[in-house]
Amino acid sequence: MSSRTIGVIGAGTMGSGIAQLAAQNGFDVVMRDIEQELVDDGLARIETDLREAEEREIIEDAAAAFEHVSGTTELEAVADEASFIVEAAPEEMEIKQAIFEELDELADPDVVLGSNTSSLSITDIASVTDHPGRVIGTHFFNPPVKMKLVELITGHHTSDETLDRAEALAEDLGRESIVVDDFPGFATSRLGLVLGMEAARMVQEGVASAEDIDTAMEMGYNHPVGPLKLGDYNGWDVRVEVGEYLADELGADVYRPPQIVKKMVRAGDYGVKTGRGFYDWDEE
Ligand code: NAD
Repeated sequence: MSSRTIGVIGAGTMGSGIAQLAAQNGFDVVMRDIEQELVDDGLARIETDLREAEEREIIEDAAAAFEHVSGTTELEAVADEASFIVEAAPEEMEIKQAIFEELDELADPDVVLGSNTSSLSITDIASVTDHPGRVIGTHFFNPPVKMKLVELITGHHTSDETLDRAEALAEDLGRESIVVDDFPGFATSRLGLVLGMEAARMVQEGVASAEDIDTAMEMGYNHPVGPLKLGDYNGWDVRVEVGEYLADELGADVYRPPQIVKKMVRAGDYGVKTGRGFYDWDEE
């Protein structure tokens, strides 16, 4: 195990982004997904994005940074090598709990286990482990290399040492961190989801087009990105999971995804990652 090695669980949008951020900042990274093809897709995305960062002179040597990243389908490989593991698997409690239960058995007790969950209870995720003190929410934003914030969520049993190590990691990665108590939706998703779902409901009701609603918030309210474009970036599949969870946990239907979003997700139109959401990204 090396203190300069970060483990990442999941090689999707966020997993590959967090792996890239860590590699750019000089960490070794071991990234795990369930199938080799998914690992390879994640690695290819990291390589492309690092090259783009080099072209924009954000980093000096993309090839050198990429050498820090390795991919695997074996959870043991991550547990053996990393001193801090960030899980970025799908936003489903059963999936996350299964991963944390296994990681807790495989990794030394001083390895910190972070979850990139956007909304799920850290206390609940940690409840399946024998060492809940080492579990913490490490919520990065999309794309992790550009978004400055890491929201750190302390569960009921999260230890002070775990929080210190998470704060130190955020700093080493050049991120700003805030500390939030474990409450559904934390400080970010609880507000962000309302805006996204309400904007989608407005499209469904014919209030205005997706473009005009985004323009309203960008130009009228000075938001850097409109809520529908942001949902396309984040993936409406993930947003539906988060919205249903928050609606149930907080008892507020304002989080409930409207039919227009459910239909898009059922049709596979998740947003940027599938080429289509409220916008057609293949054309852009
Ligand atoms: P994604 O669907 O793009 O990626 C998830 C990956 O996890 C997939 O490649 C999947 O094959 C893999 N996976 C599934 N089970 C696994 C397992 N047992 N072990 C390892 N990998 C496994 O999802 P995403 O958008 O990257 O979201 C991941 C997490 O990050 C979610 O909890 C989500 O809420 C959170 N998040 C997402 C965003 C966003 O904008 N997409 C932003 C912040 C936080």
